[in-house]
Amino acid sequence: MLQITRPRTVRTVVELRDIVRDWRRAGDLVALTPTMGGLHEGHLSLVRAARRRARRVVATIFVNPTQFGRGEDFDAYPKDDVRDAELLASAGCDLIYAPSVEEMYPEGFSSTVSVAATTDTLCGSHRPGHFDGVTTVVCKLLNQTQPDYAIFGEKDWQQLVTIRRMVHDLDIPVRISSSPTVREADGLAMSSRNRYLTPAQRRIAAKFNKALFASADHIAHGLPIDRVTDACGKALLSAGFDSIDYLEARDAYTLQPVDGFQPGTEIRLFAAARLGTTRLIDNVPVERTGMTE
Ligand code: AMP
Repeated sequence: MLQITRPRTVRTVVELRDIVRDWRRAGDLVALTPTMGGLHEGHLSLVRAARRRARRVVATIFVNPTQFGRGEDFDAYPKDDVRDAELLASAGCDLIYAPSVEEMYPEGFSSTVSVAATTDTLCGSHRPGHFDGVTTVVCKLLNQTQPDYAIFGEKDWQQLVTIRRMVHDLDIPVRISSSPTVREADGLAMSSRNRYLTPAQRRIAAKFNKALFASADHIAHGLPIDRVTDACGKALLSAGFDSIDYLEARDAYTLQPVDGFQPGTEIRLFAAARLGTTRLIDNVPVERTGMTE
């Protein structure tokens, strides 16, 4: 029988650095995949992408309190260390770094990394302080591990462009790679939060990605963006979504609003919508067609 050894879990930066130092001495490249646990195939795809780039892969599991707002699901966030470790082993992870909150934010901690340009819109407008929490913790994880690569999912596109901005602006010596969104069979983007959905909500949730892909297609074929996003929002509400935080076409890299294709730019459609207490986010590319040139 094939036996997969669980990766070692360390909880302190000292242990993490000792192990990474030994790998470096052996000449190995190191890749980092930050997660909050509650793992699914989307996370594992990042670990596999990391493995393709580096001989050694560190996955972090840290539910970062500072990126959750008041009334959000920090206390309820799914935790299953044993299952997560087994999944990470199967994907080829070498080391799990799972620090405590006190290890990450010891008494007296008082620094924040804040990226201005890409965070005052979309999720940033609806989750005040969220991206400061994300960039601060990712900056710390990068400094603690000092990997050659760090891999982030396109599922959280705004997070991805914000981290790229931070790494560029602060000269952090790491290469950021992205990995495509992994979806369920019906197209719903995998998310740790999908497990909050009731069976009835889960059926409605499947309409989210379908509406976004259809709208992206309409925009690609030259229909006016405002009309398409209005119709999409109405369709989601009548499908059973309780509310829509945002549903907008944006420049894929600056996240600025767009009203059509400009030469050399890429457009993505971004949305966040609520089903009961669960907030779903997704984003899809608007593929250029001949008609919009
Ligand atoms: P999280 O644990 O939700 O903070 O996510 C950790 C990393 O996994 C982030 O880089 C996410 O973008 C990525 N991720 C989450 N869901 C997916 C998915 N469905 N497909 C690809 N990457 C994902």
